[in-house]
Amino acid sequence: MLDKVLIANRGEIALRILRACKELGIKTVAVHSKADRELMHVRLADEAVCIGPASSAQSYLNIPALISAAEVTDSSAIHPGYGFLSENANFAEQVERSGFTFIGPRAETIRLMGDKVCAIESMKKAGVPTVPGSDGPLPEDDEGGIMATARRIGYPVIIKAAAGGGGRGMRVVHTEAHLLSAVNVTRTEALSAFGDGTVYMEKFLENPRHVEVQVLADGQGNAIHLYDRDCSLQRRHQKVIEEAPAPGIDEAARAEVLEACRQACITINYRGAGTFEFLYEDGKFFFIEMNTRVQVEHPVTEMVTGVDIVREQLRIASGLPLSISQEEVKLTGHAFECRINAEDARTFMPSPGKVTLYHPPGGLGVRVDSHIYTGYTVPPHYDSLIGKLITWGADRETALTRMRVALDELLVEGIKTNTDLHKDLVRDGYFRQGGVNIHYLEKKLGL
Ligand code: ADP
Repeated sequence: MLDKVLIANRGEIALRILRACKELGIKTVAVHSKADRELMHVRLADEAVCIGPASSAQSYLNIPALISAAEVTDSSAIHPGYGFLSENANFAEQVERSGFTFIGPRAETIRLMGDKVCAIESMKKAGVPTVPGSDGPLPEDDEGGIMATARRIGYPVIIKAAAGGGGRGMRVVHTEAHLLSAVNVTRTEALSAFGDGTVYMEKFLENPRHVEVQVLADGQGNAIHLYDRDCSLQRRHQKVIEEAPAPGIDEAARAEVLEACRQACITINYRGAGTFEFLYEDGKFFFIEMNTRVQVEHPVTEMVTGVDIVREQLRIASGLPLSISQEEVKLTGHAFECRINAEDARTFMPSPGKVTLYHPPGGLGVRVDSHIYTGYTVPPHYDSLIGKLITWGADRETALTRMRVALDELLVEGIKTNTDLHKDLVRDGYFRQGGVNIHYLEKKLGL
């Protein structure tokens, strides 16, 4: 087992990783910016190192500072969490070159999945269903060819940057008259935003749901899926509520896609935790991208499978095989997660500041992953996520009722939170039925 892990992240996920390390008897190193001295995991870690000023660019994204912190503390491995450097292949490479274990896939895998054209191609080869599209980058100087591709796929189409991420670098085209200018604008934007002007084309699905598959692989030939999650409730491509399993999915299509993801992990010799993201429409799955890290919403999967995903990540990085086989993974009940943000529930304006009173809900089937406490000051420099409220129930209705009760019990005073939005959403008639599409929340909010 790894001896000492440096946690290259902050907030709730840093605390989540710290807990898993402690359970496995692994020593922990917290690294933090000057603005984050008061973080709970900094207090609880065996050692803490300040790696720079508040700005993420100079702290949590500062590769030399992170590697030096690992050196001075004699850490054996680095866990990147999510966001920040978690999907940065150069970071993974430098960590390994400096003699530390990167807790995640090999750098080549991160690089492969970071290029969406390559990712789609390799998934197609591995038998994962993809969105009908250009099957590769759009040519630079063949306008006729681009128009023919769009006609073959059928309008509307979406032009996407191969190097895109975070919902940026995409443009929907409804008619041929707008096609070539959209391709050119997306190319130019992609070049300036990501340093790579490669673009490709896909059929634009009009009313899909976002359904994703959690996988774990040990890089020693074993891979399992941990079923699916529905994350369709989104605002500006940011997930707001997630649930597991995805409700009302065609069982044959589900069984097929779950097995295809598991097989794909073996084909690409995947290592660690990962997520295959799909759009789901008319009973069919269409792969859009793979995330090569632990995700914010991983707890809903843990609640319905009983598998500790971060623990498995740490075991895999220690060179151990998966602790469970596919046959041993049993899906039990249903779980929801509400992302609690420090922001205005109506305007979504961030609301940093001092938490004057914090009372987390509790009881059977209620889990709170949060780093905040009474007296803690939420800094203005980072993501506004202050916690995740997760509930489990024997069925969807029970889990949702528990979420209603838990949200009513949650108290965060001194700053604004989006709790009222969640209270409204868990009482929404369509959401309660299950299966709303990715546009539902924005339509409901009148955006
Ligand atoms: P990013 O890496 O920037 O998050 P994705 O490829 O995951 O990009 O797409 C982000 C979002 O854009 C999806 O969740 C979906 O809402 C929308 N989207 C992407 N591709 C399509 C498509 N072919 N049809 C409809 N919507 C799409």
